[in-house]
Amino acid sequence: MDDSRYHTETVATQFDWRNVGVTDAGDVVSPIHLTTTHEMRAPGNVDHEYKYTRFGNPTRDALEVRLAQLSGAEHAITCASGTASIAATCLSIVESGDHVVAFDGIYGGTRLLFEELLVNSLGVTVEYVDATDTDAVDEAVTDETTLVWMESPTNPLLRLCDLSAIADITASVNATYVVDNTFATPYFQRPLDHGADIVVHSTTKYLNGHSDSMGGVVLTNSKSSAEDIAHTQSYNLGGTLAPFDSYLTLRGLRTFPLRMDRHETNAAKIATYLADHPATIRVNYPGLESHAQHNLAEQQMDGFGGIVSFELDATSAETRAVLEELDVFILAVSLGGTESLADHPATMSASYLTEEERTAAGISDSLIRIPVGIEHVDDLIADLETVLAKLINS
Ligand code: PLP
Repeated sequence: MDDSRYHTETVATQFDWRNVGVTDAGDVVSPIHLTTTHEMRAPGNVDHEYKYTRFGNPTRDALEVRLAQLSGAEHAITCASGTASIAATCLSIVESGDHVVAFDGIYGGTRLLFEELLVNSLGVTVEYVDATDTDAVDEAVTDETTLVWMESPTNPLLRLCDLSAIADITASVNATYVVDNTFATPYFQRPLDHGADIVVHSTTKYLNGHSDSMGGVVLTNSKSSAEDIAHTQSYNLGGTLAPFDSYLTLRGLRTFPLRMDRHETNAAKIATYLADHPATIRVNYPGLESHAQHNLAEQQMDGFGGIVSFELDATSAETRAVLEELDVFILAVSLGGTESLADHPATMSASYLTEEERTAAGISDSLIRIPVGIEHVDDLIADLETVLAKLINS
């Protein structure tokens, strides 16, 4: 199948074993290649592609081909988690003493990795900027900057940065520009088309989509970057994606466009409902006209995604009570599965940030993040209505 000719829905749905380049047995569904080693024809003579699963595996390759196609990328390198893909990317780019510029709204786990691995262990300087303001990024980069790290929309406040403008700024100092696209997914946003050099995703989230597999992927059009990252990943870090998880993610991808459409319609309805509700003081969703960067979202995204966060007019204890009383929404971290979740970032997904860091990042005790699932939206709204009515009447 010549995938460049077809729409995302068609590419995601079909499996084409010929893309992987091993014997074509006519499989319609990807087989799971569990072997860790492959027979060689002669000592030292690897006359076929595979020799050891840490360096290459047919099931993983099938997934990488599919992820590259869905992202409009030349190369995809999968890893054992989104965090592993972030580590492999950073370690293949930065060296001791380098200067890195990062969005101050990035996922807390990425920030922890930057602080512990890059700053404390490697002596890298990381400067966090409010990248909703493009000028702030322009002022922060210098000739010493080797890496600019963005995430858009951010976790959990759904802040955006101007992807194309920051590509120009990064290019002006010859740094590498990386965008974490986990929230938007390639269905709603393709940062490579906006000038990013490298894109990372936690496939644990929407790409696998069923909350049953950890994974990550690095996407790029640069052959040399892909080779460097694959080398760091295979030879230094060793956190390659297992064949079974590769299979699960391939399976999840078959319904990826369908799921994303439903996540988005449900999220848009819920965001509107919450914005009109007297119990909320702020609702963060790029699809709302009240979102400070709604116009930018319309320009650079093909949809607004499935995640909503909101602040209640409530104390921390009241906010926690609301979360405990939800029935359909499941109290859990993570996002991107078919089920709706509810998260209290201050005590859950962002709990490893200090109180000071959370305040600086705008994560208040009354903030709730809901990755909206694909259930019937009326059930989700009814669930929220029950607990919010109780809050108002208390
Ligand atoms: N990037 C973002 C935006 C995330 O939200 C997460 C996890 O929540 C990660 C990266 C890390 O992914 P993983 O948990 O698969 O390591």
